[in-house]
Amino acid sequence: MEFAVSAKDAKFREDVREWLSVNVPRDPRPPITLAGAEQVEFMRRWQRKLFDGGWAGISWPEEYGGRGLSLVEQVIWYEEYARAGAPEAGCLFCSLQHAAPTLIVKGSPEQKAYYLPRILTGEDIWCQGFSEPGAGSDLANISTRGTVECDYIIVNGSKIWTSFAQVSDYQELVIRTQPGSKRHKGLTWIICDMRLPGITIRPIKSLDGEYHNCEVFYDNVEIPVVNVVGKIDDGWSVAMATLSFERGTAFMETQMRLAYTVEKLIGLARLLKGADGRPIIEDGGIASQLSRLRARSASLKAMTYMGASRARNSDMPGPEGTYIALRCGEMKQEVYRLAMEILGPQGMERPVELATQDLVQQYLYSYAATIGGGTSEIRRNIIGERLLGLPRHG
Ligand SMILES: Cc1cc2nc3c(=O)[nH]c(=O)nc-3n(C[C@H](O)[C@H](O)[C@H](O)COP(=O)(O)OP(=O)(O)OC[C@H]3O[C@@H](n4cnc5c(N)ncnc54)[C@H](O)[C@@H]3O)c2cc1C
Repeated sequence: MEFAVSAKDAKFREDVREWLSVNVPRDPRPPITLAGAEQVEFMRRWQRKLFDGGWAGISWPEEYGGRGLSLVEQVIWYEEYARAGAPEAGCLFCSLQHAAPTLIVKGSPEQKAYYLPRILTGEDIWCQGFSEPGAGSDLANISTRGTVECDYIIVNGSKIWTSFAQVSDYQELVIRTQPGSKRHKGLTWIICDMRLPGITIRPIKSLDGEYHNCEVFYDNVEIPVVNVVGKIDDGWSVAMATLSFERGTAFMETQMRLAYTVEKLIGLARLLKGADGRPIIEDGGIASQLSRLRARSASLKAMTYMGASRARNSDMPGPEGTYIALRCGEMKQEVYRLAMEILGPQGMERPVELATQDLVQQYLYSYAATIGGGTSEIRRNIIGERLLGLPRHG
C-alpha cells in the first residue's frame, strides 16, 4: 500500500472544503415519494452545480468529462463531502456509482459519447434491473427473456426491487437472450429506455414511508440491438463488472458518512441528558459502544485507503471492496440503532431543532443495508472464496 498525503493532495482537500462550505444546499434532500419529482429536481440541480463547479466525476477519465484525478483524490472528496453534510446520491446513485463506470469499461465508443456526459450533468437518471422474484442472490437464475428480431430485442418478464425505477430514464437490464440457456450463459446486458411502450412500473412502499423500490413489468418491449453493452449472450461478464463497482468503490462515500455520523452521535450524547439528568455520554454502556464504533470506522477508513491505493494500477475494484461493503452494511445498522438509543423517545418525535429526522429515517432504512447490493451472507461467501481462497460454496 502506498498512501501518502502529498502537498498536492492537501491543497486539493483545502479547495474541496472551501467550495463545499459555500455551495452545499441548506435544505435537506427531499424523500423519494411515489412520483419522486421533488428529489429528482433537487438532485439534478445539485449535480449540475457540481458539474459546473468542476467537481463531478473526480476520478472519471477526462475524455468523458471527468477530472481524471486519482482514486486517492476521490477518497478525499468523499471525506470532505460527508463532513460538509452534502446530499447523499439518492436517485443518482445507480447512474454515477455503477452505470457510468460499467459503460466506461464495457461500453462502445458511441454509448460512452452519448450517455456519459448526460449522467455527469445529472440529466439522465438510471436504475438497475437485475433482481427478479426468482433471481436475487442467485442472479444467474434470471428468466426475463429477450428475443432477437432483426435490429430489436423483444423483452418479456419482470424485475423487482428496482431502486428509483419510477424516476429513471434508463435501466441496466439483464435478460436471457439465448433460448434454453442455463445459469450465467446466454444472458445479455442491455440499456433499456424506461419510457418505451410495454413497460409498467409499480413502486413499493418501504418501512420508512418512502418509495425506494419498484416492480417493473415488460410486455413485448422493443429495445434496439445497438443498446447491448458488450455482446449479445455475453452479459454475465458485464453484470459482474457492474456488481464489482456497486460492491466496491460505491461504498467509499457510505463509509465516510458513517464515520461522521459516529462523531455526530458523540456530540449528541454530550448534549442530551438521560432520565437521571446527567449527559448520556456518562452512561458507560453508550460510551463503550461509541468508542467501538469510532474504532471500527477508523479501521474501515484504513481499508478504503488501501483499496484506493491498490486501484492505482487497475480500472476495476478488487474483491476487497466486498469486505468494505459487508462491514458498511452491518455498521450502518449498529450506528443508527445506537442513535435511537441516544435519542430515546425524543428521536421518534423527530425534534427539528436537533436535526435528528435524518437519523430516524436512516435507522428505519438501515434494515435494508445488509440486503441491497448483495446480502451479508453472499458477501461473506465472496470473501471466503475470492479473498481467503476457501472451497466454493454449494
Ligand atoms: C434497499 C434495496 C435496494 C435494492 N435495489 C435493487 C436494484 O436497484 N436493482 C436490483 O436488481 N435489485 C435490487 N435489490 C435487490 C437485492 O439485490 C436482492 O434483494 C438481494 O440480492 C437478495 O436477493 P433476494 O431478496 O431475492 O433474497 P434471496 O436471494 O432469496 O435470499 C434470501 C436469504 O437467503 C440467503 N441466501 C441466499 N443464497 C445464499 C447462499 N448461497 N449462501 C448463504 N445464504 C444465502 C440470503 O442471504 C438471504 O438472507 C435491492 C434490495 C434492497 C433491499
